[in-house]
Amino acid sequence: MYGKGILKGLSVTFKRFWNTYWDDIVWMFRGKKRYYTEEGVKHRSSKNTRGIFTVQYPEEKLIIPEEFRYIPFLVYDEVADGKKEVRCTSCGICAKVCPPQCIWIVRTNDPATGRPVPVPAEFYIDGDICMNCGYCAEYCPFDAIKMDHNFDIASYERNVYNMEKLLKPASYYAGIRPENAAREDEARKAKEAAKAAKAEAGAT
Ligand code: SF4
Ligand code: SF4
Repeated sequence: MYGKGILKGLSVTFKRFWNTYWDDIVWMFRGKKRYYTEEGVKHRSSKNTRGIFTVQYPEEKLIIPEEFRYIPFLVYDEVADGKKEVRCTSCGICAKVCPPQCIWIVRTNDPATGRPVPVPAEFYIDGDICMNCGYCAEYCPFDAIKMDHNFDIASYERNVYNMEKLLKPASYYAGIRPENAAREDEARKAKEAAKAAKAEAGAT
């Protein structure tokens, strides 16, 4: 039959159209709202959502999956007395592998000896050039740079991030990427334990 494909296509479109309103009606009968509620956003972010919907951005935002990546940030550990222990050693690997070359690092030098100290004096990322590839985070040997989830950064200014803007605590990282953070913590602990065991074996 001629036009069978057209009818089939139209029936798919109609099904999607119908499901859009049907899901709204189901939620209405449950006394709930599919829009502007946390529960509604969770539903629309899930595989159970039906039909076509519009996210009411910026009031609403869909749930971001753990592996989503946007502008990188630098991780620091919170140590005693509220001090920040910056993980970055200013090794420069991230700047080398960055495809559009949007990372600048200024190394710290010991004023007395002039020798390098493994802490960055300055660290910049040009957020307007960064293509969110995640190479910097992949290659960093110290888990010091990670990809952020915050995509809501539109501004009328250039988005060049300095250390003040880039530094975020390890707890923030664990909050947005819990599975990755737990896996990396375990690997770090295992490495430290192996190092301690080796040192102990060498001492005896
Ligand atoms: S973020 Fe990582 S790779 Fe980049 S300079 Fe710091 S320690 Fe090296
Ligand atoms: S995410 Fe990619 S482009 Fe952005 S700073 Fe890291 S390596 Fe460079």
